[in-house]
Amino acid sequence: MRSSAINADTAIAAIFGDPVGHSKSPAMHNAAYAALGMNRTYAAFRVTSENLAAALRAIHPLGIIGVNLTVPHKEAAARLIKDLSGEARMLGAVNCVVNRRGALRGDNTDARGLERDLRDLGCELRGRLAIVIGAGGGAASSVLACFRLGANRVVIANRTPARAVALTRRFSAKGVVRAAGEPRGLDALMDSKLLADARLIVNATSMGLTVGRFARLDYSSTPDDCLFYDLIYSREPTPFLKPAIAAGRRAADGAGMLVNQGELAFRLFNRVAPPAGVMRAALFNELGRTQS
Ligand code: NAP
Repeated sequence: MRSSAINADTAIAAIFGDPVGHSKSPAMHNAAYAALGMNRTYAAFRVTSENLAAALRAIHPLGIIGVNLTVPHKEAAARLIKDLSGEARMLGAVNCVVNRRGALRGDNTDARGLERDLRDLGCELRGRLAIVIGAGGGAASSVLACFRLGANRVVIANRTPARAVALTRRFSAKGVVRAAGEPRGLDALMDSKLLADARLIVNATSMGLTVGRFARLDYSSTPDDCLFYDLIYSREPTPFLKPAIAAGRRAADGAGMLVNQGELAFRLFNRVAPPAGVMRAALFNELGRTQS
């Protein structure tokens, strides 16, 4: 819906983050509202960490139908919201809050968004090894997606190995996956024996975004069918993906995951599916990219 058409009946969905100006979610959700002719709009609110609790409490009084959460609020919201989906509880992170007539329900659509994208990319993990780089919320979602796709081993490689250990403990304690992940430091990325078995390597760190370079990784030791997946998305191939492409490996960035988690959130907020392809086209348009 165009902003000029906002009126007293317009229902509002939103994203809370800090920073939030870079978010592509408003473009995606508003494109779906326009395509469906719904009198709804999606706004971005810069909410600081100290204001998160107050902002969550304001959702119902303001009649906001649902809210996405981005950096740095996902983990804090999981502690603040009482009613959590099993997935949000397992991941210890909320990226989606639904206002159910005043009762807030916290959910997490990141793992499902990535799982769907990996399936679309034909990434068959049954009985294979996946390596997830990172140990934050994005990494937790990635580990869950890998196990759901049938991986029999998931190595979690992180700059701070203690956080990788904590993540593996969380999964084994919840008992939701067949095997716990295996914690490592970033030295795992130069372990040619390990890399030779990898079917999938996921970057779930901010390396390449906040710092322009990626850690040392022995791309040449990976098998020809290894897929490199970066949760970061951008107009050009990321620093993690560029050498993979040069080595002739398949590479994908997190644009597909972002679209999928957005479509799942749209359904939760509006109880209707967005028209196929509309949110994806809006994202690619924002990124200045042609669809692929
Ligand atoms: P997070 O919880 O803050 O975790 C950040 C991770 O990056 C940690 O493992 C951290 O390692 C590592 N890291 C940061 N700077 C590093 C450096 N200079 N060298 C090595 N490791 C470094 O973040 P998150 O929420 O998981 O998000 C991670 C990335 O995924 C972000 O870029 C985010 O935008 C992206 N993401 C994308 C989607 C999507 O839909 N496409 C969804 C979720 C997240 P330490 O533990 O050692 O600090």
